[in-house]
Amino acid sequence: MGLEIFGLKGRVAWITGGSKGLGLQMANALASVGADIVINSRHAAEAEAAAHAIARQHGVRTLGLAADVTNETAINALVERATATLGGIDILINNAGINVRQPTTEMALVDWQRVLDINLTGPFVCSKAVIPAMRARGWGRIIHMSSILGQVGLAGRPPYTASKGGLILLTKTQALELATTGVTVNAICPGPFATEMNRPLLDDPEKYAAFVAKIPMGRWGELPEIDGAAIFLASPAASFITGTTLLVDGGWTAQ
Ligand code: NAD
Repeated sequence: MGLEIFGLKGRVAWITGGSKGLGLQMANALASVGADIVINSRHAAEAEAAAHAIARQHGVRTLGLAADVTNETAINALVERATATLGGIDILINNAGINVRQPTTEMALVDWQRVLDINLTGPFVCSKAVIPAMRARGWGRIIHMSSILGQVGLAGRPPYTASKGGLILLTKTQALELATTGVTVNAICPGPFATEMNRPLLDDPEKYAAFVAKIPMGRWGELPEIDGAAIFLASPAASFITGTTLLVDGGWTAQ
């Protein structure tokens, strides 16, 4: 068997929040092995620009649409539009996410709720929207972007850790719900990567160094280092893998 077990030609992949950061990186990675790409962002212009750039670079079909992952009506409309335009979503990467960094006693309830809504309810809404058609086709891949902070705690991150830990059990539960259908559900748990989300750490040399000190490999992840995990879990190569989490963390959680 050759490299075609990692190929995604003829598949349509939807990456939520895919106009920048790890989402854009993974969208390009899946396009590089042949997948057509759907991207949503809260801003139409950003989603469209990213989709056009991916189409130009990889010669695949793309669609960039505005939709907030917490808005079920908008998400259902996106799935309908993608199905009409590209023929149905085969792969969903629930990537959209935010972080608000405050200890419990200083965390406003509205911020706690916003992180849970986007990081945990968003993936529920988006997977609910695609599962019926995946099940009907007998093939599908759902990948939730959790985090090392879904596996271990970190002071000052109450809703982020709770949402990412919740995603790991959502992964297992959906994997069991879909185990006999040809649809797999897995999670990726990245360690620190230099994206906008981590701007407060990147801009603070002390905080940046404190994170490096926790990583056995002694460095942050480089964006392309997420590609292999995304391609692998989306591909035919991962057909017997469901309900699991793949750590991409330079060893953070090994200690
Ligand atoms: P980022 O801030 O660069 O990108 C997040 C994307 O999600 C943005 O495009 C943003 O517009 C989008 N988004 C946010 N709220 C949304 C909403 N309500 N509806 C639609 N889109 C929305 O962050 P990133 O670092 O690329 O993170 C991507 C995912 O990876 C997140 O789920 C994050 O928690 C996870 N993660 C990141 C790291 C890291 O170190 N960067 C580590 C572990 C996990």
